[in-house]
Amino acid sequence: MDSRTFTRRSPLAGFVFLMATSACGGGRAAPPVTAASPGAGNPAGSSVVLPADVAFDRAVARGTRTTTGAPGPKYWQQWTDYRLEAELNPISKRLTGQGTLTYHNRSPVALAEVYVQLLHNLFAPGARHNTDVPWSVEGVELGRVAAQGQQLKPGEGDGAGYQVDGTIMQIRLPRPIPAGGSATMELGWKLRIPPDGAPRGGQDGETYYINYWYPQMAVYDDLSGWQIDQYLGNAEFYMGYGNYDVALTLPEGWLVTSTGALTNAAQVLSVQTRARLDSASRATGIVRVVGEADRKAGTSTAQGTSGKLTWRFRADSVRDVSWATSAKYLWDATNAAVGDANGDGRADTAAIHAFYRPELRASHWDQSARYSRHSVEFFSRYLLPYPYPHMTAVDGPTSCGGMEYPMMTCIGGQWDTLGLYEVTTHEIGHMWFPMLVGSDEKRHAWMDEGLTQFDQSQAMDDFFKGFDDEERNRRNYLSFAESGGEVELMHHGDRYPTYGAYGVASYYKPASVLVALRGVLGEETFHKAFREYARRWLYKHPSPADLFNTFEDVSGQDLSWFWRSWLYETWKLDQAIDTVRTAGDSLEVVVENRGRAIMPVRLAVTRTGGQVDSMTVPANIWFGGERRRTIRVARQPLVKSIEIDPEKDFPDIDRSNQVWPR
Ligand SMILES: [Zn+2]
Repeated sequence: MDSRTFTRRSPLAGFVFLMATSACGGGRAAPPVTAASPGAGNPAGSSVVLPADVAFDRAVARGTRTTTGAPGPKYWQQWTDYRLEAELNPISKRLTGQGTLTYHNRSPVALAEVYVQLLHNLFAPGARHNTDVPWSVEGVELGRVAAQGQQLKPGEGDGAGYQVDGTIMQIRLPRPIPAGGSATMELGWKLRIPPDGAPRGGQDGETYYINYWYPQMAVYDDLSGWQIDQYLGNAEFYMGYGNYDVALTLPEGWLVTSTGALTNAAQVLSVQTRARLDSASRATGIVRVVGEADRKAGTSTAQGTSGKLTWRFRADSVRDVSWATSAKYLWDATNAAVGDANGDGRADTAAIHAFYRPELRASHWDQSARYSRHSVEFFSRYLLPYPYPHMTAVDGPTSCGGMEYPMMTCIGGQWDTLGLYEVTTHEIGHMWFPMLVGSDEKRHAWMDEGLTQFDQSQAMDDFFKGFDDEERNRRNYLSFAESGGEVELMHHGDRYPTYGAYGVASYYKPASVLVALRGVLGEETFHKAFREYARRWLYKHPSPADLFNTFEDVSGQDLSWFWRSWLYETWKLDQAIDTVRTAGDSLEVVVENRGRAIMPVRLAVTRTGGQVDSMTVPANIWFGGERRRTIRVARQPLVKSIEIDPEKDFPDIDRSNQVWPR
């Protein structure tokens, strides 16, 4: 999601309710204050030990994780093959679906029950939620439910059956799935597409963004077992990987775009549309595939039988499928150079699509394909080559804000050019975190939003040639930190007291923390570690410790003090030049650590004539609780000025005391 999206939503809605439901799930709570915790006024002191992570330590002992940050030799994760069919009636706004889910149990234990997410039950009457949700939408209406060939009945009990609690469905299987075995489930369902105002999708009468529309396996992993935290609206998702075959039936003339590759273009697209798409796959510019005059059956889409068309998509190694449809869309397309995505030594391309209504030109949607192409190409260079067949930006209901799905983003509302590039590149950044690197967004929002907010800044710097988005993130974090109310990053996304606290801890602070880490490690080492983390956990489920350990492994440094200060606490950084005095042929510079966060002190001494001497005092000088350190510098050539952290990498709460003379 885009950082602007959460700030646009009404503040504090539902949080009173949230407190009453805080027992949901089993997410890692805020780390306990340890006995070694420093006293007031004392900086981090010697307590640079991270709070215990019992689940992770157990996984290391079992060989599924390692202390180097790489997946362990016995790492495993589950897999699901989906065959889904749905028909959408745009008049009644009803979707009728049926699906076969084949769940592969790659864990070392037999599973007698499995859990399925019915995320659309966020809209059920009486549903628990902590965001605004439109009225009277209804939840998922389940039809046939069968597992292992046996029809199941709803209700509690010990025998085979199923039970729905909010957005989580438990299926008690007729027979346990042995380790290494599989089970097939068949489900039928109906749901109503919510109106504009629904989080992350819905319909506004013209455009339909269909998200969380099918029964989806919950994640069972080596750290927590089943992760069945309710979907309450605010915190996002944890999803497993799988392959999808999807068939979507719509009236003819309605363009459909979805996660996955369209496999029956000849049946659903007109000859003209296919010819233009083909040219877009080789074009250097943007191709208008469907223009205003083309928007009708026979010209944009093919002509259907009995007025309908069934669109077939195939998506491999994705954690979700969402799709969009409208009879009003224009369609722009081009392609992006992504490098060698499949490892065959040859350069690959991905298709780039933009679907939008003509009125959205006022929000620069005619630039969308260009923005997407730049973003995909930039992140392919900066992180890993984009491996999916396309990246598609869709103009959707306003309440989409900016929301990411595999290969897709739904963007709603009014945008200027800076804003539309920003939201587009942010959502496309999410293709890497969490789409390709599948972290748990609910329990560790910073692992996808924070990394993406940081990546967004890198892309904006490249696109707008020097635009300093990092400074915006730092300002947003620091102004919130100063006002109080900050909550640490290692916190469940549904347990923040305010949206402001959630947003700062999920977006602005972690983005600023990564800039600080880059300052600590140096650009090259940081970038190497960042990419290595993505490479190691591609299509897998990393935990925070895997990220910490990879950075330590690649850099060869113990960074516990860094994680502790910036992820587990709300300590603030305030480094100051306290005094500068003459002592013989030296200047004595007294630097003071006035906050509780610890960081190295990076001093730049500028001399007359322009020479700059840089020196770094390592962070460990503060470990013992010391608050001041005297640093000697030569008096000659004459010192003109001294500054701490002139690169402004570190989020220091008071920069005015970092410069001498003041
Ligand atoms: Zn986001």
